[in-house]
Amino acid sequence: MLLLLSISIFLTSCKNNIKSVEKETYLMGTIVQLKVYGRNAEKAAEESLNRISDIESKMSINIETSEISKLNAKAGISGEKLSQDTYSVIKKAIEYSKLTEGALDATIEPIVKLWGIGSDTERVPSKSEIDEKLKLVGYNDIVLDDKNSMVKLRRTSQAIDLGAIAKGYTADEVRQILVKNKISSALINLGGNVYAMGNKLDGTKWNIGVQNPLSTRGEYLGTLSVTNKSIVTSGNYERYFIVDGKRYHHIFDPKTGYPSEKGIISATIVSDNSIDGDALSTSTYVMGLEKGLKLVESIKGVEAIFITVDKKIYVTTGLKDSFKLTDKEFTYEKGR
Ligand code: FAD
Ligand code: MG
Repeated sequence: MLLLLSISIFLTSCKNNIKSVEKETYLMGTIVQLKVYGRNAEKAAEESLNRISDIESKMSINIETSEISKLNAKAGISGEKLSQDTYSVIKKAIEYSKLTEGALDATIEPIVKLWGIGSDTERVPSKSEIDEKLKLVGYNDIVLDDKNSMVKLRRTSQAIDLGAIAKGYTADEVRQILVKNKISSALINLGGNVYAMGNKLDGTKWNIGVQNPLSTRGEYLGTLSVTNKSIVTSGNYERYFIVDGKRYHHIFDPKTGYPSEKGIISATIVSDNSIDGDALSTSTYVMGLEKGLKLVESIKGVEAIFITVDKKIYVTTGLKDSFKLTDKEFTYEKGR
């Protein structure tokens, strides 16, 4: 808590009698930014940060006492009783595994750990090491017990990592806290997992930058103009290392155990709920352009922007009026 306080930046101001609070801190291994406007802004923002910490303490694989760590430690032995938070996120992950033919697979943890991308043990493992760990990956080995909120992993050494979906769930939970506090204008940003609530104070829509995947963080190739929408991006520029000129990033193909290389370098999903956006941005990245587009077009209320390695942008028709391309290095391929 002390650490949290010491690295938090928060600004409070008052304009036209509307209270505005901005907070920035480090949680879930990423930078969390909240902009909250309204009478209860301070209280709502405080509650939100506490809730993010609460979810982190339950779902982080980096915290030994988290529910996920305990569940993983008991793999092949027994099940772990979970909070509704963790149980529902695992259940949602399985739903998306089925919908995406296994492109999203929460049991990917042994592969994530083997590569160690973003940690000080990152390296390119041998094919035989990868094949060995790949045997442990399989969402069908997650055994659910709805009645008791228990989850068991069928085989020893299997493990769950909710890194691809938990930030989305968290953004939805923060949104609920803001609604409860009668906030109607806010911007939630959990390391690129964004929810834009209501409009800006001046009544116009929020403009959310879409990161240029070939450039450094904060350089945008276009903007999305939205109200009450989640915008989540999965990209190869988030966590990676380079060996012999080759980039190895953190989004793995559960079928091969290697970083996914299906032509997409950035997948942005626009949806009502952030958990869906988080799950779909990771899984469409893994599925590749053709299957990803087909999947997104089949789900009502979900839109996407895919950027391919050859600098082409594919935008689904529902975003035609809200996405503006500003970087002429990239070209439209569909939807315009
Ligand atoms: P996404 O595309 O949404 O997810 C990619 C991540 O999901 C990968 O990093 C991997 O963990 C996993 N993954 C990869 N491929 C697949 C796949 N095919 N199916 C399913 N999952 C896959 N990072 C730290 O460095 N330190 C921390 O203390 C820390 N704590 C965290 C606590 C929580 C509760 C969560 C949710 C994340 C934490 N992280 C931590 C992780 C960090 O923030 C990740 O970068 C983030 O979760 C990945 O999100 P993304 O939006 O970049 O990519
Ligand atoms: Mg994701």
